[in-house]
Amino acid sequence: MDKVIEIFGSNVFGDAVMKERLPEDTYNNLKSTIKEGKGIDSSIADTVANAMKEWAIEKGATHYTHWFQPLTGITAEKHDSFISPTDDGGVIMEFSGKELIKGEPDASSFPSGGLRTTFEARGYTAWDPSSYAFVKDETLCIPTAFCSYTGEALDQKTPLLRSMEAINKQALRIIKLFGYDDVKRVNVEVGPEQEYFLVDKALYDKRPDLIYCGRTLIGSMPPKGQEMDDHYFGVLKSRVAAFMREVDVELWKLGVLAKTEHNEAAPAQHELAPIFATTNIAADHNQLTMEMMKKIAQKHGLVCLLHEKPYDGVNGSGKHNNWSLSTDTGINFLKAGKEPDKNPLFLLTLAAVIRAVDLHQDLLRISVATAGNDHRLGANEAPPAILSIFLGEELEGILESIARGTHYDNLARVKMNMGADIIPKIRKDNTDRNRTSPFAFTGNKFEFRMLGSASSISDTNVMLNTMVADVFSEFADRLENADNFDAEINSIIKDTMNTHRRIIFNGDGYSHEWEQEAERRGLLNLRSTVDALPLLKSEKNIKMFEKHGVFSATEINSRVDIILENYTKIIHIEALTLIEMMNREVVPTISAYTNRLCESLLNKNKIGGMNCDVERELIFRLSAAEKEIYNLTGELKMSVATLEKTVDALEKARLYHDTVLRLMEDIRKYADSAESVVPTNIWPYPSYGELLFNI
Ligand code: ADP
Ligand code: MG
Repeated sequence: MDKVIEIFGSNVFGDAVMKERLPEDTYNNLKSTIKEGKGIDSSIADTVANAMKEWAIEKGATHYTHWFQPLTGITAEKHDSFISPTDDGGVIMEFSGKELIKGEPDASSFPSGGLRTTFEARGYTAWDPSSYAFVKDETLCIPTAFCSYTGEALDQKTPLLRSMEAINKQALRIIKLFGYDDVKRVNVEVGPEQEYFLVDKALYDKRPDLIYCGRTLIGSMPPKGQEMDDHYFGVLKSRVAAFMREVDVELWKLGVLAKTEHNEAAPAQHELAPIFATTNIAADHNQLTMEMMKKIAQKHGLVCLLHEKPYDGVNGSGKHNNWSLSTDTGINFLKAGKEPDKNPLFLLTLAAVIRAVDLHQDLLRISVATAGNDHRLGANEAPPAILSIFLGEELEGILESIARGTHYDNLARVKMNMGADIIPKIRKDNTDRNRTSPFAFTGNKFEFRMLGSASSISDTNVMLNTMVADVFSEFADRLENADNFDAEINSIIKDTMNTHRRIIFNGDGYSHEWEQEAERRGLLNLRSTVDALPLLKSEKNIKMFEKHGVFSATEINSRVDIILENYTKIIHIEALTLIEMMNREVVPTISAYTNRLCESLLNKNKIGGMNCDVERELIFRLSAAEKEIYNLTGELKMSVATLEKTVDALEKARLYHDTVLRLMEDIRKYADSAESVVPTNIWPYPSYGELLFNI
């Protein structure tokens, strides 16, 4: 056990190392910068850089990199070595404050959505001192934000940091009204639960769809899927257990608080949850987690699939974003306490979240809109893409009694307190229903469950932070001008419930009835990325983001273009992959097998008197499927070639959604039906059964 304590954070230039290696005044200066989210004092940069370099070299580092998250969804690194030539022809290892604070990667190879014309291809990265530097692969990695030369955000982190400022500012106004004058900062805490699939590497290597697209494009269902519910929390297989152990250790070295590892609902599906951290750190750590899982899986002969829907017919993977607000003095705005009805800060915060989610259903949906996640939300076998909030009966009861001016009857609480004080009261609510809610209050935090497993958590938290900041600013305006503070809180809650009651839903969010009920309530149901994305540019959204300094209108426009371009590119690659698989493997296989059946039929005929019905039926069935596949694949090829030339990003994405995806689904149907009758030993790809159960 001692060992865990020793290795935890051993590759991180964290607080203890800084304290040990930096002069006291430099350390204090840096520490207050980090704690209060202020800009860095450039006079200390050289000292910090030098200490960082010395430490990193001792850890075996030869290079450094500004580590950042461009809008491609991956994490980018450009490695520079520490070496610098000396007069006598040798080298010394150098790293200056300037190099620490600012980098200039060639921005032209990252998407900018028209923000940057090629002649001003420069962009720069800027150090984020609040996320600790670390050593990975002999490289000192410095977490940074990435901007265009004119200061527009080209990454995930910049708006995230801005949104954290926005909510800090407004939440401080609120908390001061409650008399907490010692509070200096309000932080957003996030704990992202990461789901993923593991697949055997040797099998993976035989599936071009997994290699190029991260998901299977064809595959007929095995006799057994997840219906037995025997995988969830099941005993870990030894190869998986070894993988998880190594992931934990590597993440611990990087200071990531990896905490819980378990099986998920689908076969071969798992989850890793860290202990929550401040949002930007949680976001960086989640990127590192995904990277480590992919890398370490390979060492165990496995591949880690982060795609939201690697297999049809079994659950997809998401990333639950647990979100709460707390002060530097340790007050959690969302902690109900023993008597939630007597906790006005908590109730006001609930009201703020309710109003924010109802007003900005579009933004939360947009923040999770990707080609991959579209298969998980609002698609055939997935929960509807409708936002609603689960509060549970007790909290809804409290808010309703305030709204209706009736006495809150806390009978429920008396009944529940039967010797189990320690269990939060919220938990007694029907957990099954709670699990189907896209946005659930789960005791001192809200859990947003629409986020896809492959995405950065940044966008979602940018939206959450900004929209709650916006509502807090309205509430603070009202409260600052109120004659009677308590009465005004009640009136805010009453107004919120009367206007936004429709967003609260404690029932089964996966049911078809809910989809109809939600429509009656007027809630948005944005089924796909192309339905959702254009709403980002609405006047309401631009006004809000500009008011809080999170996005400029230009940045929003460029983001919409980038997301749509990404969406189209992904479907484009999937289509090309499917075409190749059909033309080069599936059609030839069906043809060869049909030929074998024909030979068998002829031979049987030669002998005479034998029954040939099975051969005959299979031949007709397979040749019909073969023809459909061949024709549809031709159609898909033509359609991709034509649509690729579409200029407008939204129109193009819509056409890919309406035409290309549909054709791909049609082809899949025929391919899967052929797979179910072609002998296993000649079908060109490992089956779903092998992929899901051969770990
Ligand atoms: P679940 O029942 O959803 O598995 P857990 O208790 O395992 O819930 O917690 C899931 C995640 O929520 C963890 O990452 C945990 O650190 C995080 N979490 C717990 N409390 C908070 C909080 N106050 N704010 C943000 N995240 C939190
Ligand atoms: Mg959860």
